[in-house]
Amino acid sequence: MSFSDLGLAEPLVRALEAKGYTTPTPIQAQSIPTLLEGRDLLGIAQTGTGKTAAFVLPSIQHLSNAQKRVLPTHCRMLVLAPTRELAGQIADSARAYGQFSKMSVATVFGGTSINKNRQDVSRGVDILVATPGRLIDVVEQGFLNLSMIEILVLDEADQMLDLGFIHALKKIVRMLPKKRQTLFFSATMPVAIRELASQFLHDPATVTIKPAATTAERVDQYVTFVNQAEKQALLTITLQDPAIDRALVFTRTKHGADRVVKLLAGNGIASNAIHGNKSQPQRERALGEFKAGKVKILVATDIAARGIDVSGVSHVVNFELPNVAEQYVHRIGRTARAGASGIAVSFCADDEKPYLRDIERTTRQKINITALPEDFNAQAAKIKATRTQAIGADPAPREDRPRAERGPARPRATHAPTATGRNYGPSGRSGGSRQ
Ligand code: AMP
Repeated sequence: MSFSDLGLAEPLVRALEAKGYTTPTPIQAQSIPTLLEGRDLLGIAQTGTGKTAAFVLPSIQHLSNAQKRVLPTHCRMLVLAPTRELAGQIADSARAYGQFSKMSVATVFGGTSINKNRQDVSRGVDILVATPGRLIDVVEQGFLNLSMIEILVLDEADQMLDLGFIHALKKIVRMLPKKRQTLFFSATMPVAIRELASQFLHDPATVTIKPAATTAERVDQYVTFVNQAEKQALLTITLQDPAIDRALVFTRTKHGADRVVKLLAGNGIASNAIHGNKSQPQRERALGEFKAGKVKILVATDIAARGIDVSGVSHVVNFELPNVAEQYVHRIGRTARAGASGIAVSFCADDEKPYLRDIERTTRQKINITALPEDFNAQAAKIKATRTQAIGADPAPREDRPRAERGPARPRATHAPTATGRNYGPSGRSGGSRQ
């Protein structure tokens, strides 16, 4: 099946050809015809499935066909996303897909000056991609009017709820015309999301693409049991592997991410961190350098990494396991994009074993165990630690408590080497028993 079979017009098909996309992904094949009919849509799908094109393409076609001129300080399509990164990426996609359809695209999110937002929307814009909080500020200051909206998209609704945007979303929807097309995407469908969807959508078509759990099937996953105090050394050794092309390293906390960057720098490995304490230009630079392959390692917290869309991530390293199993699926979904396969490596300390069990239950998969390298102790002795304590013994996610509050790091234990080395390729899976 081709994109023109789905009913998309020539300028859109040409833009897709320019991107090298020839075959629609399942969510595109299922959503585009329905959306072209003008129906509302409830899409249960996560990032990585091609959902951005699924909602952007038919929307651009609709906007082009209607041929309305947008008035100053108005917009015709509003896309709401939970994070700046995701908003920026949706806008980039909309520009690329709309390049032959003469669509204007702008973004409104925090971290940039509100004056810049004001300028960007002053002449009116066809497609506006925004995070909820800043959008409300811009509207309330009179810089933007939402009364001309024809299409509303809520992307990653479950993440928006997690980030506390529920009231903002309801407030924004009250400002919109009742007659509009609404598209609602969420990776998961807890009751709260279902209720929200039923409030916003009118007789929607529902498209479900892979429950979150099965995304994990495309990723080769490994876990190494390691003491908290030994994780720094293991990370340094892991990232020295020449097979690593581009690695995303996850920590639970912002300070944890900064400490990892410092540790790696001390051992001659360049990396950048991306998290909520970084300014927008810092985040953009880190992401840009990673995308361009200039800095091959990006250290991220869960929230900052949400929606990151970088092709060619070869490895995801979970320096710490997340305590919410779905978060693990989100993390490893950063690799294996659009059908590619990827490798996910997790470091699991004793107190993280319950998280591992949860993850395996959720993904309905056993994760392959990789033993520590045979000469781990000798290699570890050469690695410079950032401090005498271990990184990342933080007890809970999204907390940045100072080390003093967290108590001392656990003492370093000695490991009996169990395998001949580390090789994450399919031919080199090492066994080892679960500790
Ligand atoms: P998304 O789920 O929208 O974040 O998309 C995931 C990735 O797949 C992005 O890098 C897209 O550019 C890419 N992509 C989207 N549609 C296609 C397609 N039909 N063929 C190949 N890649 C695609």
